[in-house]
Amino acid sequence: MKNVAVIFGGRSGEHEVSLQSAKYIMDMIDKEIYNVIPIGITKDGQWFTGPNVREGLLQGEVFGHPLSIRLFGKDRGFMVKKDDGWQELAIDVVFPCIHGSYGEDGCLQGLLEILNIPYVGSGVLGSAVGMDKGMMKTIFTQKGLPVGPYITFNKYQWEREKDLLFEQIESFGYPLFIKPANLGSSVGITKAKNSEDLLRGVELALQYDLKIVVEKGLIARELECSVLGNNELFVSTVGEIIPGNEFYDYNAKYIDDNSQIIIPAKISSEVEKEIQRLAKAAFRALDCCGLARVDFFYDHQGNIWLNEINTLPGFTRISMYPKLIEASGIKGKELVMELIRLALERKEELD
Ligand code: ATP
Ligand code: MG
Ligand code: MG
Ligand code: MG
Repeated sequence: MKNVAVIFGGRSGEHEVSLQSAKYIMDMIDKEIYNVIPIGITKDGQWFTGPNVREGLLQGEVFGHPLSIRLFGKDRGFMVKKDDGWQELAIDVVFPCIHGSYGEDGCLQGLLEILNIPYVGSGVLGSAVGMDKGMMKTIFTQKGLPVGPYITFNKYQWEREKDLLFEQIESFGYPLFIKPANLGSSVGITKAKNSEDLLRGVELALQYDLKIVVEKGLIARELECSVLGNNELFVSTVGEIIPGNEFYDYNAKYIDDNSQIIIPAKISSEVEKEIQRLAKAAFRALDCCGLARVDFFYDHQGNIWLNEINTLPGFTRISMYPKLIEASGIKGKELVMELIRLALERKEELD
């Protein structure tokens, strides 16, 4: 039987979300085909494995064996510390189940490339660009995809050129959305209705990242579409989110129960087709692999705007990615097994 390691937790602001996603992924893996190896990373970046490592992290504790990496000899790869010392931990394929920094942004992908272990999802480049909302928009714009007005700057620029930046930002008009460039689950994102909100929002976002993206706030419906595949791409039906709060913030996503998900979205078939076309184009623009969820805005003038791509979208109980795929005829178990197959297929193509 092959060993699939599911890696979760980690140092990102989305640690808790990752633990929820990992449960879904591990439940959906066909245990007659794969032996599941749970690998948990603590909030301070320590790696452990064991059957109860996820339960441990949920309680803020560690139940498991420490992991290490060996970079020499023919058994290069993960090592696990048991009572009688360090042993090789054979892993055939990894399902990275970490959203945000060090998991979704190309870091973990780079580590796995060096260890020569196939993994689910996009490679280093697609993951890194897909994580950085500034770089992502630069590429989308270059490819002619519809991106709303935005500006990016870093902490250094904000401290030295605040007046100039302020002027440029305010020329978009309020409301504005202020985001740390490299995050997800709406962590660190605020909506600004005036200049005080803007100042406060930038200070908050700077606590999460040195790089900030400020966007013109669009008055629009929120639509999402899932993509599955490496070469030939399957695109799901389109879903709509009706946030329970003023926007789809962290609470509206995971805490309050007042957001609604409508699948399929009530849109014309032309709009649906256009969103599906743009979702594929966004996926290709960033050289993505395996999976991605692409988020859109559909405004009252009938314009479709590409908001962002998520290369390791959530797999929680409320998550759109698996729901949209399921609504398109592929059940959770089939989806997770297909993602693992795609990981192995990509590795074969590269070798
Ligand atoms: P996730 O990865 O969980 O989807 P994220 O942290 O990457 O989220 P975004 O999707 O960029 O963040 O934004 C989060 C939410 O903020 C959106 O779903 C939407 O409700 C609101 N939002 C973001 N940007 C805009 C905008 N330009 N205009 C209107 N609303 C916006
Ligand atoms: Mg995102
Ligand atoms: Mg995300
Ligand atoms: Mg989003």
